[in-house]
Amino acid sequence: MSANIDMEKIVSLCKRRGFVFPSSEIYGGLGSCWDYGPIGVELKRNVKDAWWRAIVQERDDVVGIDTSIMMHPQVWKASGHIDSFTDPLVECKSCHLRWKANDISDDKCPKCGAELTEPRMFNLMFKTFMGPVEEEASTVYLRPETAQGMFVNFENVVTTSRKKLPLGIAQIGKSFRNEITPGNFIFRTREFEHMELEYFVKPGTDEAWFDYWVKERFEWYIKLGMRKENLRLRQHGKDELAHYAKDCYDVEYLFPMGWSELEGIANRGDYDLTQHAKHSGRDLSYYDGESSERYVPYVIEPSAGVDRTVLALLIDAYTEEEVGGEKRVFLRFHPPLAPMKVAVLPLSRNEKLTPLAKEVYKQLCPSFMTCYDDSQSIGRRYRRQDEIGTPFCITIDFESLEDNQVTIRDRDSLAQIRVPVEELGKTLQAKLSGEPFEKTPLWAARQK
Ligand code: ATP
Repeated sequence: MSANIDMEKIVSLCKRRGFVFPSSEIYGGLGSCWDYGPIGVELKRNVKDAWWRAIVQERDDVVGIDTSIMMHPQVWKASGHIDSFTDPLVECKSCHLRWKANDISDDKCPKCGAELTEPRMFNLMFKTFMGPVEEEASTVYLRPETAQGMFVNFENVVTTSRKKLPLGIAQIGKSFRNEITPGNFIFRTREFEHMELEYFVKPGTDEAWFDYWVKERFEWYIKLGMRKENLRLRQHGKDELAHYAKDCYDVEYLFPMGWSELEGIANRGDYDLTQHAKHSGRDLSYYDGESSERYVPYVIEPSAGVDRTVLALLIDAYTEEEVGGEKRVFLRFHPPLAPMKVAVLPLSRNEKLTPLAKEVYKQLCPSFMTCYDDSQSIGRRYRRQDEIGTPFCITIDFESLEDNQVTIRDRDSLAQIRVPVEELGKTLQAKLSGEPFEKTPLWAARQK
């Protein structure tokens, strides 16, 4: 169970193997900011690709966009972020640390026990200035969500895509929130990536679409290979709902610190388009040709975090087992998510083996994320590949020079098969698409 995995193990593996590093580490790091390394960036790209494929590519009712991080300041007035994207904070009168008022149970500073101030509202948006003059009139904000980019472009997208409702607009991009209590590694940071869909529907059909998206989004995590027992849906209570939201569910994951939100799916009614119509003076209603009616569409919003999904996938894939009296750590990623699909490992750095090994590497590179490694013992190289979750390792040995066959080792079962070099690409493609890995004993394969 994930709850039994120590977060420290994940953080240390991420650092050791190049998934995630503390940001600006040589300067001591910057609180709550993290950098994705060569392996982590592949995992993150695969998560975003899987989302884009499911939400945009495989559907004819959703289109994607990519909007700017800085938007007209009125956007945040209309959306309500300037007035209400705030957390009540209390400050310790002695050590001056600030705490979320909701996290404090007994009116005393959790650090030093001193008295606390009355709660004050603290806006979570980062402010900056556009242009050379730092003055109130040039204040802009770093977006705290990508969603407003979809709302303000609703009209543009409807007219240019020539699609009818229901219509979704999707976006993946960076968001910024000056979180008061960031932490738990990449779970809560001040700069993170959102994957958001705004799905516009005819009023009256919203509840059915809401149910559809809650189910769809929950299933997506299972399709990514996450264990069902580590996922659950939680409906928001009336007291938790934003004033405009009709209904909201969170997809939660059993993180080491307990059940926590991975994604929120909300029925936002017509709040967003109505607000933007009011503040911009533009009519954002939609003319429905089928029913000859004009209305302001309702919006269903599934909003997920890339970094939180990456963290949940790392935790879910983390596996320890004992093989031959030794501990083996491996990440059991679903193949499409694995940062590296294949590793080419000549048995040793022997000049006779290198040419064939390089040839195999060159053959695979265009089709698969492939790495080549001929340093250190083969055992150590297998361990490294296991720890980054590479599904298949290809070994080139002296027999390969005779029979032009190589060995494929399966990460999960440790089974090995021999395959002719010319069939390697095809075989790997089939295995990565889910064909079972036959445990053909090596000697049998060699006698063929
Ligand atoms: P939380 O309650 O955890 O602060 P939220 O309800 O404010 O999250 P939303 O505004 O619904 O979050 O954003 C949708 C998703 O974006 C979240 O489910 C999460 O995956 C991700 N997310 C939000 N804030 C952060 C953050 N500070 N760091 C990393 N991911 C975040």
